[in-house]
Amino acid sequence: MIPPPLGLYLHIPFCRQRCDFCAFYLEIHREGRAETFVKSLIREIQLSSPQHVSAGRPIQSIYFGGGTPTALAATQLLAILSEIYRYFTLASDCEITVEGHPSTVSEQDLGQLLQAGVTRMSFGAESMDSNDLTRIGRPGAVHQTMIAVDQARAAGFTNINLDLMYGLPGQSLESWRQSLAHCLALAPTHLSCYALTVEEGTTLASNIQRGRSPAPDEGLQIDMDKAAQQILGNAGYERYEISNYAKPGYACRHNLLYWTNGEYLGFGPSAQSYLGGTRFGNVADLEAYNTSLAEHRLPIEDRTRLSEEEQLRDAVIFGLRLIRGIPTGYLHQHTANYGHASVTAQLLRKQLIEEDGEYSRLSARGLLQADTIAEQLY
Ligand code: SF4
Repeated sequence: MIPPPLGLYLHIPFCRQRCDFCAFYLEIHREGRAETFVKSLIREIQLSSPQHVSAGRPIQSIYFGGGTPTALAATQLLAILSEIYRYFTLASDCEITVEGHPSTVSEQDLGQLLQAGVTRMSFGAESMDSNDLTRIGRPGAVHQTMIAVDQARAAGFTNINLDLMYGLPGQSLESWRQSLAHCLALAPTHLSCYALTVEEGTTLASNIQRGRSPAPDEGLQIDMDKAAQQILGNAGYERYEISNYAKPGYACRHNLLYWTNGEYLGFGPSAQSYLGGTRFGNVADLEAYNTSLAEHRLPIEDRTRLSEEEQLRDAVIFGLRLIRGIPTGYLHQHTANYGHASVTAQLLRKQLIEEDGEYSRLSARGLLQADTIAEQLY
């Protein structure tokens, strides 16, 4: 039997500055800390790989996220990649993505990444209106995104994603439409459009609490979501997940692993893994992460074995984020497992979920309530 494909995620926990809305595990980049981290990460790859290499599982996608992977020097990213090449078997068409902040890349670095096998660059543009960026404490400017995309193209990248956020403080529907148009002019192959959410403990949350910043307006966010669907659809991008749009053939293979309940191994502090029906996560503390690896111990903090019912539940919850939905049998088996008959019947009656005999999916109205529906079905 061919072993199922596996993805690798690498969490690079450094940024040049923390944006007001961001709650990811990271710290401000410092040279010495980054050097120690890279050594730890390489050791984690070495310690972790024997269990997976022996199974001969092909790696179908590798994703450098964070944080800002390009806060590391290109030579450090290459050192990490070459360790992965040494210890894992890659599928011949393995997708390798590096996330980058537009202000932390150069054409030369991008050329090195491409030569080392990186196939996809993902830039956090967030908005193409510099006033929006200022209001969310986001370093970098609109022109840096434009330069970064040009540099990536000049270096030879053909697969480029831009991340955008909508519902930012003070952002109007018109400014959002202009951001989308501005991005389209850069002709990325993929666009991720995320509604701003307010995470506890962030500067944004405290600004809202003190009345210095308006809370996101849900009605406006819905209008912005609809505008994205229309503008990107007209431009030939297929919406394949609630927040993700791609030109044909350019859906992000790594993210699809998450939404199809595929398996992945995470490296770096706070990184999560899912393998053989077990979820496990690394300690979200760089100091503890380094110490553990210096002592040749994997920095795994918690481990949860999922029953078959729980695995199916997760396949349903994540899979309903996909526009194509999930096999109808999954939904009905999950409904029986969890005694959700009345919930599912109501979602079908209200036409929040649609079925075509083969697949069950959220309707256009259902997609607007995806989080609430997920809670009901959990
Ligand atoms: S650059 Fe990205 S990861 Fe870093 S603080 Fe800003 S949003 Fe968070």
